[in-house]
Amino acid sequence: MSNNIAELRFILAGWLIDGSGGPVKRDQLLKIRNRLFSDIMDNGQKEIDGTDILNLSRYTILPCLIDSHVHLFMSGTNNQAVRRHQLRAGFRDIKDVISRHINQHLSHGVIAVRDGGDAYAHTLRYKSERQGGTHGSLYLNVAGKAWHKPGGYGSFVGEAPLFNQGLAEAVANNSEGIDHVKIINSGLNSLTEFGKESLPQFNLEEMKGAVDIANILGLRTMVHANGRVPVKIALKSGCHSVEHGFFMGMENMQRMVDQDIFWVPTAYTMKAYYKHLKKKGVERLVSRKNLDHQLEQIFQAKRMGVSIALGTDAGSLGVHHGSSVLEELKLLMEGGFSLEEAIKCATLNGAWLLGLKRMGLIAKGMTVNFIAVKGGPSDLPDSLNRIALMVVNGRCLNKCRG
Ligand SMILES: [Zn+2]
Repeated sequence: MSNNIAELRFILAGWLIDGSGGPVKRDQLLKIRNRLFSDIMDNGQKEIDGTDILNLSRYTILPCLIDSHVHLFMSGTNNQAVRRHQLRAGFRDIKDVISRHINQHLSHGVIAVRDGGDAYAHTLRYKSERQGGTHGSLYLNVAGKAWHKPGGYGSFVGEAPLFNQGLAEAVANNSEGIDHVKIINSGLNSLTEFGKESLPQFNLEEMKGAVDIANILGLRTMVHANGRVPVKIALKSGCHSVEHGFFMGMENMQRMVDQDIFWVPTAYTMKAYYKHLKKKGVERLVSRKNLDHQLEQIFQAKRMGVSIALGTDAGSLGVHHGSSVLEELKLLMEGGFSLEEAIKCATLNGAWLLGLKRMGLIAKGMTVNFIAVKGGPSDLPDSLNRIALMVVNGRCLNKCRG
């Protein structure tokens, strides 16, 4: 079979999860024209005439996935020597690390990632040296360096504005080549004291000034924030997404709904800590409690109608690029999302947040991007570990088989 799906006219899907959050559809016939879906019909088996068709009647198809929060310069390994090396290594070493992580994403059906920054802006350089929007078919949105307060948390993923510079000025002067702005407005979650909230790094005036400048530059702003006050400042500034949002509380969730701001909960980070930290240590216990609390927040957010985009924070301890997407999907489901709704967080919602048009949804007029996994929806999300077929812009990334 050709590697070019564009030469085909039909795909028969045993099960279709379209990315809208709506229920799984059985036996669908997808028509293709010029690398776009031109029609989607019920009763696919009856409609086919046997020609120009990719028969995926024993497969579930869904849009390619999007991870809205990664750090490509770091691996999820728990080997501390490797982690220390990656934190300070030069571009010559890190570019291979980034390539490896990109391949891990692609092999798990991830078509796009939003990078949350690194101290030396290696990921920005990686993207600019490879030109264009895709990297071996992966769409890569980069922040360059994240911004944190002088002396505040976050130096390993970014830097502070110069001493005579405000946050807004720093954003304005460092926008070349980036796709979005990343600001850090709190510390990490405490792993020794459950529920301890860190102080905000920037006040509302500073944050708003930075978001306004980013808007003028046509860039969206992602804000790392945990705890009620840091999240409240981020939301009031008009940012586009709150990252993590541990212990942010229901008032902030209501603000998210009212202002249509996305939440990227990165719950798997806590489960990974739990799995990797010392068995008897207090940190392991607190990370488990943090996870449970975040799952409760996810449950409330769903009930209230908060828009959630799936992000893993891949590169964090135990959070591996690619495979963690399905771990985060599982946690969204533990937090009350149906499979279809969880997949929407990793497809349509991610596409909106990354500004990727015609992606994240399998519908008439959308680009032919999809993954196929063997078996029905009940095998998901685990079957994402064995992607049978990935099609990006009408081209098969692996061998086309039906
Ligand atoms: Zn991060």
